[in-house]
Amino acid sequence: MRKKVIIGNWKMNKNKEETEYLLNNLAKKTWEKEINVKVCPSYVNLENAQNILKNSSIEVVAQNMHYEKEGAYTGEISYKMLKSININTVIIGHSERRTLFCETDEIIKKKVNIALKNNMNIIFCFGESLEDRKKEKQIDAINKQLDVLMDDVGINKWNQIILAYEPVWAIGTGINATPDQAQQMHKYVRAQITKRYNQELSNSVPILYGGSLKPSNSKEILSKPDIDGGLIGGASLNFDDFFSIIRSVDKK
Ligand code: PEP
Repeated sequence: MRKKVIIGNWKMNKNKEETEYLLNNLAKKTWEKEINVKVCPSYVNLENAQNILKNSSIEVVAQNMHYEKEGAYTGEISYKMLKSININTVIIGHSERRTLFCETDEIIKKKVNIALKNNMNIIFCFGESLEDRKKEKQIDAINKQLDVLMDDVGINKWNQIILAYEPVWAIGTGINATPDQAQQMHKYVRAQITKRYNQELSNSVPILYGGSLKPSNSKEILSKPDIDGGLIGGASLNFDDFFSIIRSVDKK
């Protein structure tokens, strides 16, 4: 049985005080053990977040990292730095990194490789653009992005990977994929994992949906059989909305 995973990606939002407000509120709440909640504050708030959540099951995750271990890369952060403050999971391939910061599949591949090699867990984001969807090329688009993983990553490394299907046209737009559109894509991806690896692995890989998830649509989308949770941007910035999304997968 795959656990549900709910991740709040706070992007370049929330100063120290605002981050503490969200974290302190989350730390007071409980939910069933079968739900993994993770939060991704900005770099400058990671260590403080770890401290606030030290007695909680919520994991603190980094939003990004460089593909080198160290060096002359002004403004960048490495896996070594993250691990030194006990951050063991990082988002890789978010569409904002791909589009706004020109991260190519080549760059993403290097990040995936260094992360997995150094025992970091990754939340690997992929998803088609609006143009791809309009031309009905969404499968080609996501296959190309997933090849970065499937061409290289050995079966024994998949326990470090969470996939997040995030159609670009749904991110931050208020327009979510319909539950059926999302389920169809997740089912397809699971079938690809079976084809490239095996059924047992494909049954175990968490595949999250991201793109305008909110309290009003989360229950329906997250109850689909191949959707194991959500990566949430905008709605995770508001405590009540984020908690309500967590509650929507809580069977207690
Ligand atoms: C995201 O950025 O990963 C995301 C899903 O954002 P939003 O929930 O705001 O669409």
